[in-house]
Amino acid sequence: MIFLKNFFIIYIIAVILYFYTLTNKEYENTNTNFIFPTKYTSISSNYGERYLYGYKNFHNGIDFLAPQNSQIYASSDGYILYASFLESGYGNTIIISHSNNYKTLYCHLSENFIVTPGQFVKQGEIIGYVGPKVLSNGLQNGNTTGPHLHFSIFKDNLTVNPLDLL
Ligand SMILES: [Zn+2]
Repeated sequence: MIFLKNFFIIYIIAVILYFYTLTNKEYENTNTNFIFPTKYTSISSNYGERYLYGYKNFHNGIDFLAPQNSQIYASSDGYILYASFLESGYGNTIIISHSNNYKTLYCHLSENFIVTPGQFVKQGEIIGYVGPKVLSNGLQNGNTTGPHLHFSIFKDNLTVNPLDLL
């Protein structure tokens, strides 16, 4: 009987572990493909070296031209890492952390942040909206000449060309 009882307990533990792994697998962020983060009208600046105001500079993402208040989508499943104003030219910014050490960056957004750090978002979920050039507090919404979405993808904290993954 003791043997049977032990066997039963082990069986129960195995069943619990099995279901735990299943639910974990479902929740675990294994999606490593990326989608375009907005319905853009055109790409105004590509990834790579460019001349800005006469100076050579490296553009670490893609600029998608889109009307103000255009929806911005999570490019892949992940956790919101940052959702706030960011200095050094980014303006209102969202950063999402993805599996396999990928991160995506969305800049020059509107002020009504609808996601918060720590929140899990599914690919395609609306995370924000394209913002104005100047914010209501008078601050410039990062280095922007007009409404657009700056989008970068990081792998191991280094930028890669998003078009290679989209
Ligand atoms: Zn840009």
